[in-house]
Amino acid sequence: MDRVTKFLACEGRVNIVCASTTDLVDEIRVLHDLTPTTTAALGRFATISGMMGLNDIKDDEDRLTIQINGKGPTGSLISVVRLEGLTSKIKVCIDNPHVELPLKENGKLDVGGAVGNNGFLNIIKKNEITDTDYNGLVPLVSGEIAEDFTEYFAKSKQTPTVVALGVLINKDGVKAAGGYIIQLMPDATEEDIQRIEKALSEAPSVTTLISENKSLEDIARIVTGDQDILVLAQDPEIKYECDCDREKFEKGLISLGKEELNKIIEETGEAEIVCHFCNEKYHFSKDELEDILEQMDEIE
Ligand SMILES: [Zn+2]
Repeated sequence: MDRVTKFLACEGRVNIVCASTTDLVDEIRVLHDLTPTTTAALGRFATISGMMGLNDIKDDEDRLTIQINGKGPTGSLISVVRLEGLTSKIKVCIDNPHVELPLKENGKLDVGGAVGNNGFLNIIKKNEITDTDYNGLVPLVSGEIAEDFTEYFAKSKQTPTVVALGVLINKDGVKAAGGYIIQLMPDATEEDIQRIEKALSEAPSVTTLISENKSLEDIARIVTGDQDILVLAQDPEIKYECDCDREKFEKGLISLGKEELNKIIEETGEAEIVCHFCNEKYHFSKDELEDILEQMDEIE
């Protein structure tokens, strides 16, 4: 089962979030029919989105929506995270799931080449009830995902941050996936920084740690060099779940406007809409479309 957990290290001067997302990323791979390169891209993206969700979401009505568009061959990557009780629920999509590029010279998947770096990372937090929102927009650095979010934390939040994300793939699917975010609070000392730098230089990669079945608490200890970490949230679960329903797509049809809707009724006589996050199909017959048109007349 996949987990995402918050910790404090260095007597509260350092925040850490760790996630193990192997099953989640493999589910995303199958659902969206991803290639190895897009599995790595969307897997890294889903992992950091889930960790940011645990950090930023305060109540059940909050939605954290993150979009990366680097104008590369994959097109946009979008994630939406919400919280239900203690469980983080995430959905993700990608414009072009079948993109595959040759390996880079170092033998790694070319995520940056596939996502592109000529665009933006956009983070929107919105509360469905109060409608208040926060919006953070930063230019992409490399399209490799971890570097782009590190830049976001430095520029937009003025917080020195280490982001590590990993997706290890073999011929059977995702073998290990996960990540961590280490953030220095304003009162972090020079010794704290040196301790963490030393720990990180000696730590195996995050996918190695997860392959070795290390707990998230172990991982937090290893990457900070602090044995006395404090667990802030005890192993909340993270899973894939889309919250789409017929009503949402009906609203989508209404937002097209009467002219467009009339055109659909005349040209095809029906509409079938596929949810990009879960592939669920919603069919609207001619009668149903005409009902929606009538409702729009009533609203006016
Ligand atoms: Zn859906």
